[in-house]
Amino acid sequence: MTGYVGRFAPSPTGPLHAGSLVAALASWLDARAHGGRWLVRIEDVDRPRCIEGMGELILGQLAACGLQPDAPPWWQHDRDAAYAEALQQLLAAGAAYPCACTRQDVERALAALGRPRQRFGELVYPGTCRPANGGLRGRPARAMRFLVGDEAVVDWQDRRLGAQRQDVAREVGDFVLQRADGCWAYQLAVVVDDAAQGVSDVVRGEDLADNTARQILLQRALGLPTPRHLHAPLVRAADGHKLSKQNGAAALELADPLAALRAAAAVLGLPPLAASTPADWLQQATAAWAGMIAV
Ligand code: GLU
Repeated sequence: MTGYVGRFAPSPTGPLHAGSLVAALASWLDARAHGGRWLVRIEDVDRPRCIEGMGELILGQLAACGLQPDAPPWWQHDRDAAYAEALQQLLAAGAAYPCACTRQDVERALAALGRPRQRFGELVYPGTCRPANGGLRGRPARAMRFLVGDEAVVDWQDRRLGAQRQDVAREVGDFVLQRADGCWAYQLAVVVDDAAQGVSDVVRGEDLADNTARQILLQRALGLPTPRHLHAPLVRAADGHKLSKQNGAAALELADPLAALRAAAAVLGLPPLAASTPADWLQQATAAWAGMIAV
């Protein structure tokens, strides 16, 4: 399938660890098994959380594991103009609007409505600044939000998890496209870049599955195609939570890339493989992956 384009899109907020290697390996294997291309994009839009030098470090870690992208990596800090253009398109179509609310304003509005207040730490925005509710009413704009609309149930298919459904209007609400500090939101940047890079298949960690419905709504509003999705299993920390930079996952041990690849493959359900170099191992793993999935 020559039209296949996959990608790994790490945020440079810390080095690659055992969990993020699983996502990188899954996307690499899936691209290779489909005879497709594999791209890497450094997602550094959340400027305050990014750490200087981490993008380069991650690229070095991937290279040490034999995971080489087929084109020079993209960096989202180069992409401001494309995100601004997408935002303008949404504003012009009435699919986005400026919002003046602080977190406190949102908390107060939700309390007054007696509605469930949050979801994964994010407040479900009650629509205070929607144009239909009077807009900014003279207050200065802070963030830009996507107008989800009152009926926005999104059905989508995951290649591993099966049929998925999210009621974005009720569960998420009008989400942020550009934050009050000017940073572009992950949702907008990922949708614009996946389309610009011709990504046909998103393969990433299962923790990100929850974002997919929002991304599909944005793709529809921008007239962009929706890629296929496969959300890979997560590595759990001792406390049962997803292993992440935030709960202190150790950086990947570069001295033994083969051991790191074997551990990642076990999480993906690949059988043990005999190869003794990363290159041979990746070749065997590609064949094993192709046998496991419906290519
Ligand atoms: N940059 C995101 C992260 O590291 C992943 C984006 C994606 O794969 O869609 O969590």
